[in-house]
Amino acid sequence: MEYMKVKGSILVISGPSGSGKTSLAREVCSELKDRAYFSISTTTRPKREGEKDGVDYYFVSKEEFLKDVEEGYFLEWAEVHGNFYGTSKRQIDEALNLGKIVFLDIDVQGHEAVRKAYPNIVTSVFVTTKNKHVLIERLKKRGTESEESLEVRLINALHEMKRIPEYDYLLINENFEESKEFIKSIAIASLIKTSKYDIDKFIEYWRK
Ligand code: 5GP
Repeated sequence: MEYMKVKGSILVISGPSGSGKTSLAREVCSELKDRAYFSISTTTRPKREGEKDGVDYYFVSKEEFLKDVEEGYFLEWAEVHGNFYGTSKRQIDEALNLGKIVFLDIDVQGHEAVRKAYPNIVTSVFVTTKNKHVLIERLKKRGTESEESLEVRLINALHEMKRIPEYDYLLINENFEESKEFIKSIAIASLIKTSKYDIDKFIEYWRK
């Protein structure tokens, strides 16, 4: 397989908070078992009720985060809704070398950075709701956001949606099971994108 540039692939999933993207990504990832790896980000955001350190995020102080930035620990990092979030590089490279599909639940800035870093192996999906009202309803039901934070997330949702054209797929998440099927199919197909191959090398190998 020396004609394949990297064994694994990266699947970026972005979308507004409340679109259901995290649940979708995590569930598909667990269904794909050893074939997939879910990247756990580091954040300075306060932990929500029910969240666990090392499971949902690595929760750190701003000082710790900035130290990691300085030490080049992150593949990408960004400020989202007033907090810092970052994707660690080492674990991702390890998973890619093992041929896994790496799931990244990151925002539009993260998507742009990861695409630049790994242009040949990134596939991306933007997940959103049918309309604004469904999103507000979901965020309220989740009950994790203050009125102010909800407002910030809604404004950011509109900004993020303007960047949908940068994504390979747009998934309007109305039915969880159906959405899961879409994400799973895209994830598996991402392993055989033509851009992952060095075609000249492949032809050379093929004709031997
Ligand atoms: P939340 O606070 O709701 O968990 O996440 C807020 C936003 O930050 C979401 O859009 C999520 O995808 C994004 N996010 C989470 N981790 C990262 C990361 O490592 N990098 C970037 N760029 N965005 C992230």
